[in-house]
Amino acid sequence: MEKSLVRPSFVTQFNCIGSECEDSCCYGWNIYIDKQSYKKTLANSELKVLAQKALKKVKKSEDAWAKAVLNQEGACGFLDDKQLCQIHAKAGESLLSHTCKTYPRMSHMKDGDRYESLSLSCPEAARLILLKPNAFHFERMTVSHKNQFEVTPLWAQKAHDYSIQLLLNEKLEISHSLTAIGILMKTVESAKQLVQNSSSIDTMFQQLLTLADNGELKHHVASFNQDTELQKMHAFTSIHLWLNTNKPVRGRARFEVINQAVCRVVDEEGNFSVKQLNNAWEQHALPALEKHQDLFNRYLFYYFYHMNFPQVDKLSPTEAFRLMMVDYFMLRSYLAAIAADKQGLTEHNIIMCFQVYHTSRQHKANFSKYVVDLLDKCGFDELPAILTLMN
Ligand code: SF4
Repeated sequence: MEKSLVRPSFVTQFNCIGSECEDSCCYGWNIYIDKQSYKKTLANSELKVLAQKALKKVKKSEDAWAKAVLNQEGACGFLDDKQLCQIHAKAGESLLSHTCKTYPRMSHMKDGDRYESLSLSCPEAARLILLKPNAFHFERMTVSHKNQFEVTPLWAQKAHDYSIQLLLNEKLEISHSLTAIGILMKTVESAKQLVQNSSSIDTMFQQLLTLADNGELKHHVASFNQDTELQKMHAFTSIHLWLNTNKPVRGRARFEVINQAVCRVVDEEGNFSVKQLNNAWEQHALPALEKHQDLFNRYLFYYFYHMNFPQVDKLSPTEAFRLMMVDYFMLRSYLAAIAADKQGLTEHNIIMCFQVYHTSRQHKANFSKYVVDLLDKCGFDELPAILTLMN
């Protein structure tokens, strides 16, 4: 059966920068080695002695047969003093474990087609995705396979395509695009629950385009002006504290830079303040992002593609929208805190915020469920309140 392989240019352009990397994936996390790679490494005369110390057999599964033993600094035992991988240097890429060979490359399947991507937890991948020109040219290749696949429901196909179109609509500012996507997800949810026909999604999308064209969407956005300062404070501090607990060794020092900056965003009484965070965004982050005005558009385009929004972690369409708004809110808050602390934002700071947040988020089991439950508790259950996370 003929199917497609879709590859964005940020995947084609990616090359690991090895010892130049500011947060190497060879540090501080569980690096598992599959059975075949484990056996071949021990059988290699140049690696045998090192492998006996640097690998520990755990036999969790065929894919996780052994684990890399980390040294006191959290580094994989195969790294030499120049931070180069000895397996790669002495035996070539073919002997690397599946994780080491493929990371940060990832992919998801949809209707039998494969969509390739990169994880934002790799700094070099984050740089390509968020900052480099021409990162989002897509090539589609024909491949054949006989694997079974599930067909994407019509509501999900429409929700995905229309969300991307609303995000990329040049007439819409990002806040207007997100408002329109939030409104659309309510209709998508009804269609998913069979309360409405899936053609209602087309109708709503057309209405939203009309509202965008005649400027009325702007008035909608302006009318969503609830005061949610206390709820935002609760949501931000809860998520930040959770991410700051039991952190993986990888990225810990970089997370601490962000944490220290957050701790300095305080009011006159020394309490953490969302108002101060907003001031920091206006006064320090926005001017510093002048050169990167498309930063969040790129991030969200990547997000929709990479996560196959709104089919995210078995969440409903409105829950997936709320999760995405929280990711946006947390990243904006971290950028604001760092911008206030450093009196501006360099490209290095920008990449750090996105990469550290995604590394931390990825290491939390059930992150999306935690966030959705927290939003319910904080009163972020209806669209007008959720949209205030953009401000
Ligand atoms: S995090 Fe990315 S750039 Fe850094 S060492 Fe790993 S693959 Fe290479």
